[in-house]
Amino acid sequence: MENCIFCKIIAKKIPSAKVYEDEEVYAFLDLSQATPGHTLLVPKMHVNDVFEYEEKKASEVFARIPKIARALEKAFPDMKGLNIINNNRELAYQSVFHSHIHLVPRYSREDNFHIHFGDHSDQYTAADLKKIAKRIAAAINLKYSK
Ligand SMILES: [Zn+2]
Repeated sequence: MENCIFCKIIAKKIPSAKVYEDEEVYAFLDLSQATPGHTLLVPKMHVNDVFEYEEKKASEVFARIPKIARALEKAFPDMKGLNIINNNRELAYQSVFHSHIHLVPRYSREDNFHIHFGDHSDQYTAADLKKIAKRIAAAINLKYSK
């Protein structure tokens, strides 16, 4: 896609520190290096976000995650954990609108990388959760019942 920075990186019109490439995906270092080795995995085909993936394309792209994860572990023996993050749409911190998966190696709890899951479990009964689950399940059935 024209004016997409990741499409330009994939086309090698913009330089990047490439770590992996095959017919479906391209992986390169995130310039921010939230932690050392912070890598982005992207589909070569322009896909805005998770909502746009065909199932086959998603399986091709997301299936590459363990390969990159194991490579990071091998390259950084002091890596003690790995966060895999995929942000979708602006509210959810997506800043480049070409789908990308962050692989963020973790070395210690003091590495200035934070994810906070607020715990609101005290606000939901089992019946509330069932009602929410039914709503989502119905939406899935609607999509696939055509
Ligand atoms: Zn793109």
